[in-house]
Amino acid sequence: NNEEETYSRAADDHPRKDVRDVVRTHYNARPDMGTRKRQFSPIIQLKRFNNWIKSVLIQKFTPRVDDRPLLVLDLGCGKGGDLIKWDKAGIDGYIGVDIAENSVDQAKRRYRELQPCFDALFYAGDCFSRSVSEFLPPDQRQFDIVSLQFCLHYAFESELKARRLLENVSKCLPRGGIMLGTIPNSDIISQRLKELPPSEVSWGNDIYSVRFTQRPSHTFRPPFGIQYFFYLEDAVTDVPEYVVPFEAFRAIAETYDLELLWQKPFVDIFNEEKNSEAFGNLMERMKVVDSNGKRGIDPQELEAASFYLAFAFEKRGI
Ligand code: SAM
Repeated sequence: NNEEETYSRAADDHPRKDVRDVVRTHYNARPDMGTRKRQFSPIIQLKRFNNWIKSVLIQKFTPRVDDRPLLVLDLGCGKGGDLIKWDKAGIDGYIGVDIAENSVDQAKRRYRELQPCFDALFYAGDCFSRSVSEFLPPDQRQFDIVSLQFCLHYAFESELKARRLLENVSKCLPRGGIMLGTIPNSDIISQRLKELPPSEVSWGNDIYSVRFTQRPSHTFRPPFGIQYFFYLEDAVTDVPEYVVPFEAFRAIAETYDLELLWQKPFVDIFNEEKNSEAFGNLMERMKVVDSNGKRGIDPQELEAASFYLAFAFEKRGI
């Protein structure tokens, strides 16, 4: 398969310092603000907006099962910010894994404080370089959903990591199981790069910025190791991330029997669902807007949110 060969060569041609430690150190060092302090974050509306998008995604794709427990594996679970969303989706069991030990401890604490209606286990582990069977108990390796929220872009550092992650996901899902998540939108990145003068490698506004170390080809070939530094006020400070060229992601996922069901830019989800019966009221409840439709996300925050898309795949095959 020619495409696979290209990918393998790409990984070899771009030997890079392992950034795993940079990512782990960054997330380990970030304190958990707690709900009260979080309310004073300068990007609180953006955080609420992203949380609403994740809730929409989770509720759209969580299957209804009555005859058995509904189980979720959250890879790159961070500090457990999605625990409430999964509770609302009515799941019965949850396992969270993250490379940053401190985040895992905070997720455990948040689980104890929230007391959701499902059982949960948490593990510290690297889901992009190791097999999850190294840390998941043998009787707990099958799930209905694997969630990858804002973390897959770290795996696109190399073909090896991206494949290991997708292999982990695929192994944990039976036929009909769902992989869902959120990632930067490569179409937006490509569009922004095309609009930039040839000598420039960065863009952004007061709250976020994207800075490439070198200008990539707009076709994103080879599709791995296309590094940029992402800055988001009060959240991510200069951690290396990697473009996830969506078509390459879809093609590799297919080799692990994961077939694309749905993908949508955040802004399109917002426009389609803001007045919908199912999710319009949820925007108010999650304080993305108030009852007058005010206190919405401001244009700078919306531009930062436009950087992302959400996706859902279904496991096919036997
Ligand atoms: N999913 C959470 C959310 O949506 O709030 C956290 C997202 S945070 C932007 C990215 C997370 O991916 C961090 O918690 C980071 O530690 C985790 N991560 C990065 N590389 C990882 C790896 N190799 N294995 C497991 N987790 C990883």
